[in-house]
Amino acid sequence: MDALLTEIQAIVGPNGVIRDEAVSQRINDWLSGAPCRAAAIVRPADTQQLAAVMRCCHAAGQPVVTQSGMTGLVHGGQAEPDELVISLERMTAVEALDPLDGTLTVQAGAPLETVQHAAAAQGWHFPLDLGARGSCTIGGNISTNAGGNRVIRYGMMRQHVLGLEAVLADGTVISSLNRMLKNNAGYDLKQLFIGSEGTLGIVTRAVLRLQRPTLSENTALLAVPGFEALTNILNGLRQQLGANLTAFEVMWQSHYRLLTEELGRHTPPLPTDSPYYLLVEAQGIDQPHDEALFNTALESAFEAGWVSDAVMAHSGAQRQALWAIREDIEGLIQALNPLFAFDVSLPIGSMPDYVETLERDLATAYPDSRLVVFGHIGDGNLHLSIHAGNEDAETRQTVERLVYAPLSALGGSVSAEHGIGLEKRDYLALCRSPQEIALMHTLKRALDPKGLLNRYKVLAPSSDRQEQPA
Ligand SMILES: Cc1cc2nc3c(=O)[nH]c(=O)nc-3n(C[C@H](O)[C@H](O)[C@H](O)COP(=O)(O)OP(=O)(O)OC[C@H]3O[C@@H](n4cnc5c(N)ncnc54)[C@H](O)[C@@H]3O)c2cc1C
Repeated sequence: MDALLTEIQAIVGPNGVIRDEAVSQRINDWLSGAPCRAAAIVRPADTQQLAAVMRCCHAAGQPVVTQSGMTGLVHGGQAEPDELVISLERMTAVEALDPLDGTLTVQAGAPLETVQHAAAAQGWHFPLDLGARGSCTIGGNISTNAGGNRVIRYGMMRQHVLGLEAVLADGTVISSLNRMLKNNAGYDLKQLFIGSEGTLGIVTRAVLRLQRPTLSENTALLAVPGFEALTNILNGLRQQLGANLTAFEVMWQSHYRLLTEELGRHTPPLPTDSPYYLLVEAQGIDQPHDEALFNTALESAFEAGWVSDAVMAHSGAQRQALWAIREDIEGLIQALNPLFAFDVSLPIGSMPDYVETLERDLATAYPDSRLVVFGHIGDGNLHLSIHAGNEDAETRQTVERLVYAPLSALGGSVSAEHGIGLEKRDYLALCRSPQEIALMHTLKRALDPKGLLNRYKVLAPSSDRQEQPA
């Protein structure tokens, strides 16, 4: 290892390698906050340096883990003592905005928030947004195919990437920095690196697709008497608001009541006796026109009996107060500690039965358990917060089985947003066929034959011995 690090230091310079105690001052995981235990952290200053580092690692059979903002929630960036961390923290440049194509070219280490601000400063909008925006990076967003609150309108990270550059395990640079919306020349290679969680290559740069900023915003919280009413509202709003529909966030009563009445963390804007609460938001370009459209759409929902009560946000502060109830993860952690958090997707129509069955199964296994639910319903995505008394490995596994097992028959997924990492690896086969998993192994072997990139993440090594590190 020492000889390899000397070689690497010659490439990246004295500031480019962090060793010894300084390594353990970094975290290995956002959830646990545990200290990093890698052999060293390597910080290349550009793509060519990273390519040279990977050539050395490949020759030496040295496994590496890419760590970026470290806000991932499935232990994807966790490093072992015999691994080197690759950090792109010196590669944070926002390189160029092309106002004609509406593209922004950035280095992968740039934080999401920096990119949002850089776009806004020149009159554009980068629509990906999530709570970790200040820490997470574009490279991390690409590698996890991040989602967030506006997926119903703008799609996930995959929809915002026109091109990218990546370094393969052997140091080969794949420069696929396409800037056009249309490019059907052969395989769309960028897709290999989007959502593959650093197992196929290290993303170094990206061409992002920008949008024009919206100029109007209308937000309301609705009390909804049943799940069918929710789906009717969803269809009605899609029809009446079209592309303006930007958020359709549903809190089950369990979430809304806990964070308002029970914990007193928020003043309840509506009484807490409704089974569902819907936070709906529309954004457009003409406030008077869009507001009238929004109000008409909500009135139709009222008249149809799909809404029993409602409150509109008339200021930025009121809007924030409504969103604060939906986004109060801290409150959930406080109330449900120890908490198991899940992020799954399933067809919208299956949601009420799935949640009811899960609640019943949890109560049978753990009579004092609690299940709190909210979700981006329009995206088919549910967030489940579960308290089952203990947090030991056996309880975790039982709860995981109760959450994940029914998804297979429903055509759902064990991961809606955060990826597989280490945490969900053993459940991948519940939502991917043997043929799909075999093809994933084929791709992994083709791009990383020595199994050096993010070892053991996403795919189980035991099912394919050729991916064991050299
Ligand atoms: C408060 C909070 C809210 C969140 N909300 C959301 C949300 O709404 N939607 C959502 O999708 N996620 C959400 N997340 C999860 C997380 O923010 C995203 O997964 C984010 O995209 C991770 O980016 P990162 O830079 O922190 O990556 P990291 O956590 O450092 O890495 C994540 C994975 O990507 C790999 N990786 C990182 N950079 C690269 C690279 N340049 N090349 C190759 N592989 C790389 C890592 O090895 C690891 O496997 C949230 C997290 C927190 C803490």
